[in-house]
Formats: sequence, structure tokens, C-alpha cells
Amino acid sequence: MVVGVHRPTQLVIDRQALRHNIQSEVSRLKAGCELFMVVKANGYGHGAAQVARVAKEAGASGFCVAILDEALELRAAGFNEPILVLGVTNPADAPLMAAQHISATVAATDWLEEAEHYLALRSAGEPLRVHLGLDTGMGRIGFRTPAELKTATDFIGDHAAALTFEGIFTHFSTADDPDDTYFKGQVAKWHELVDTLAQRPRYVHVSNSATSLWHDECNDNLVRFGAAGYGLNPSGWAIPQTPYQLEPAMSLTSELVYTKRLQAGQSVSYGATYTAQQDEWVGTVPIGYADGYERRLQGFHVLVDGHVCEIIGRVCMDQMMVRLPHDYPRGTRVTLVGQDGDQQITLQDVADYCDTIHYEVACGFTSRVPRHYIN
Ligand SMILES: *Cc1c(COP(=O)(O)O)cnc(C)c1O
Repeated sequence: MVVGVHRPTQLVIDRQALRHNIQSEVSRLKAGCELFMVVKANGYGHGAAQVARVAKEAGASGFCVAILDEALELRAAGFNEPILVLGVTNPADAPLMAAQHISATVAATDWLEEAEHYLALRSAGEPLRVHLGLDTGMGRIGFRTPAELKTATDFIGDHAAALTFEGIFTHFSTADDPDDTYFKGQVAKWHELVDTLAQRPRYVHVSNSATSLWHDECNDNLVRFGAAGYGLNPSGWAIPQTPYQLEPAMSLTSELVYTKRLQAGQSVSYGATYTAQQDEWVGTVPIGYADGYERRLQGFHVLVDGHVCEIIGRVCMDQMMVRLPHDYPRGTRVTLVGQDGDQQITLQDVADYCDTIHYEVACGFTSRVPRHYIN
């Protein structure tokens, strides 16, 4: 999709907010504990390379991504730090990952066997660095028994030219829940597995944002820091207390491109689902569901000149209409996410209205919306 640089709709990313969140986290980690910034899905929509640059300045020593292409994007942008791919990759890409010093998540021994086959075909080259994923209750990927784990570590030990045991980790499914019953069960399962290792690898890690914010005694020597780095509370509203103020980095702004006086009885947008009860001013905003601004947001609101203005009628693919308190000049700023005067709309507010989580809203803005970096 082309980037809409000639349209006034943009995501504004505040680097200072990113810096504040990441620095605050780095400064509370125990000595010897590192932070890898999670920049999967284009840095949760904020721009992967831009976020990585700020994260590095703020004290991150590496990065996590979801897929190999995201790791290659960072390498192409000149980052030399460790990068861990959190998802399952294709074993045929093992030589590529090894050559690029990209670490692979491994969840099964047959993956190692297949990767070793491809790595053995090389005439020379460094071993592939692997992090063994343990499934302690997330139920997504990973080894689940000490026997499975031992088979994997033995295989790596027997194939040192191809494979290096660089890390071991697990992922918690309820670290953002005020009820820590299930969390504790996962911690116990983690120890049942990890404590059987004859030798600990370089990186031992369990913490996403929620774990590091609220269960930092579990951190070990690496934190995989995502949502909170972007200033988003990983629990939504569930646990409002955080060790430091989280500053949201993402705002979404546009402008009124057209205004009109609607007569009582006249309707707006597809399906004519909204009809004015009285004469009123209406503005058109150039954003729609093709930008990731969901159609379900009909009835939600934006800020115009510090006023809360309702989105009336259906959100179209590229445009939508809002009810104004009075007429405004074309070019008046519209805030869809962020602060205007003493009013604020957060990604959490948008997510609540759409019955989802801020993670989905943030990474749902499409590439048509330009990212503009400030501070
Ligand atoms: C996405 C992800 C993270 C980051 O989670 P946040 O809640 O955004 O901090 C950490 N670890 C794994 C395995 C992930 O998939």
C-alpha cells in the first residue's frame, strides 16, 4: 500500500516517551539483567527500526521479533545487536539465520535435526544460536517435559559445529492478571524443566512486560520488553499500578477536510444509519477502516479543538464524519488518539470501544498512515 504523505492523517510517535519507558525499565533491572526490546509487527505499529534506534540509546542490548523477515529488516537497517526470532522459523533458513547472527526459537528436536541437516551442507560458518522454548502453560510452542528437553540439549551438544545453545525461555499467559494462581503454576513448571539443565545457557528468560512490571523476582538475566516500552499497560485496566508512569508514544491525528451544515432529517454515510435530529455542523475526516481505524468505531468520538465530537454514521474505507459544536475552518486539527487541551483519547479507550486490546489497535494501523517521529 502507498503511504499517504499528501493526506493530513498521520501517526505521531513520541521518541521521548519510548525513551522514558525503556530507560525507566532498564534502570530498575538487577545488575546482569538485560533488556531486549520487542519490535515485532513493525514495533507494535510504531516503526521497528525507529523504535529499535531509540531502544538502543535507552539501554536495550538486543531485540526480539516474531518472524525472520523482521529480524532481517533490523540487520538491513544496520543493527548488530542480538536478535531473537520468537516464532517458529523454517529449518531451511537456518544457514541464513546463522550467517546473519540471528537467534532462532526452537520448540522441537525434529526442528533441530532438520536445521542441522541444512547447516551441515555449508562448507564453513558459525553455528546457529538457538533458544529453547519451554511450554509451561501458554500452550503455544515449546518443550513440555524434562525428557524432551534433554533430547534437545543432547542433540545440540552433539552438533556443536552447527548449533549453539544460547538461551532458554518460557512465556506466561496470565502475568497481567491480578489473580496469580495460574502464573504460579507456570513458574513451578518452568523450574521443573529448567532446573534439570546440566548447564545454563547465556540467556535465561521468562519476562514479558507484565512479568517484569509485576513479578520482577522472576526476571533471571533477560527481559523481553514490549507493550510497556510503548507506554501501554499490558493489563489494560486490570492492574493500574506500575513501578513508573507509562507514557504512551503513539498519537493519531488528522484534519477536517470539509464541513457543512446538516439540516434536521438529513442523513450521513452508508446505510443512512444516522439522521440529524436538528440542524448541526458536520466535519469530514480523511481516515477509515483501510487505515486500521475500525468500522466498529461509529458512535465513538474524536477531539476537535479540545471538544469531544461523536463519529456519526458508518466509518467508510477512507473517510468518516463527526458532529461539530460549530463550524471550523478546513485544516482544523482532529485528534483520534492522543491529547488535545485537557481531553485525551488513549489506545485503551479505542480498544475498549472495539472490544479488544490496545495491542491489536496499535499494530492494526496500516502502512497507508505515515509515521511521523517527534522529539
Ligand atoms: C510479544 C511477546 C513478548 C512481549 O510481550 P509484551 O506483553 O508486549 O511485553 C514477549 N515474549 C514473547 C514470547 C512474545 O511473543
